[in-house]
Amino acid sequence: MIDVQRVSKSFATKDAGTVHALKAVSVEIGANEFFTLLGPSGCGKTTLLRLIGGFDSPSEGAIRIGSLDVAGLPPQKRPVNTVFQSYALFPHMTVAGNVAFGLQMLRWSEPEIELRVAETLQLVRLEGFAARKPGQLSGGQQQRVALARALAPKPRVLLLDEPLSALDLKLRKEMQNELKRLQRETGITFILVTHDQEEALAMSDRIAVMRDGHILQVGDPRDIYDNPNCRFVADFIGEANLIPGDVLGRSSSITVTVRPERISIRPGRKAGDARVEGVVSNVTFLGLDTLYEVTLPKGARLRARLRDGVERFQPGDRVAVDWPDGVERQLVN
Ligand code: ATP
Repeated sequence: MIDVQRVSKSFATKDAGTVHALKAVSVEIGANEFFTLLGPSGCGKTTLLRLIGGFDSPSEGAIRIGSLDVAGLPPQKRPVNTVFQSYALFPHMTVAGNVAFGLQMLRWSEPEIELRVAETLQLVRLEGFAARKPGQLSGGQQQRVALARALAPKPRVLLLDEPLSALDLKLRKEMQNELKRLQRETGITFILVTHDQEEALAMSDRIAVMRDGHILQVGDPRDIYDNPNCRFVADFIGEANLIPGDVLGRSSSITVTVRPERISIRPGRKAGDARVEGVVSNVTFLGLDTLYEVTLPKGARLRARLRDGVERFQPGDRVAVDWPDGVERQLVN
């Protein structure tokens, strides 16, 4: 559906310098995919979204939507619509007026508009709110209006720039499910920008992890979580123990990573087959799980995340640390 080919984007800064926001980025996004651009602040994800939406043009490279090269096409000529972080609703218009606005611009007929507005409000579960003004709605409801407005013209692609960041945690989880449902029911390609890795894992069919103008890894959530291809991805997605080591018989140093929930600890000294021993140095109760930080003999620290069970440990306890063969991943850089 979307083909981004070696796209770069540079901005001139006020002090006559240049920011390279995107550096020869290539990615293909399929029809009907829930695709997420994930990365820390400043990595270029909003820039990439804006280029796909037509709000800005690439310095180099090409973007195709469907089979169409969209270079030079303004946003309203692309089969794409956008939900902005701020919602950007018209405060003086009713909910129905907000949803109808884009359709009027596209010169749909009045009966068609009326039908589509009702249909879209039903889709986002806001039947009965058509006559209200945005100021009379909760944050979550305003978010739904913004979604309805963007979905009304039946775009093939919906771009979502941090759409949930203004909502509190509980509402955010609820809207995550809503967005998943809307994507499934409409079959539209969703491209979401977020810096929240949990949100990305929960919602996406595939994730592109970005850093410093590059895409480092693209994959489905489980694959990215289980097989991160570099230190940054391992550390950015979920929690990671990064364990430095030397290859036996060689002088090269490597880093391996093991997820905290893969690590087990037992009371007492290293017995026979356990890998290492250490001392519990911190305990954090997380509700369902408890996170134990264990300091190893050379000072390195590992985190083990355990279900609350029979065995509990206190800071100062001596423990044997282990993990199953094969769950560790060696990181190249
Ligand atoms: P955030 O999560 O903070 O929005 P982001 O990953 O979306 O970050 P971008 O907004 O794409 O990052 O910005 C990438 C880089 O490009 C940043 O260094 C930013 O300062 C710079 N940048 C973005 N837009 C412009 C612009 N119009 N002029 C100059 N620099 C820009």
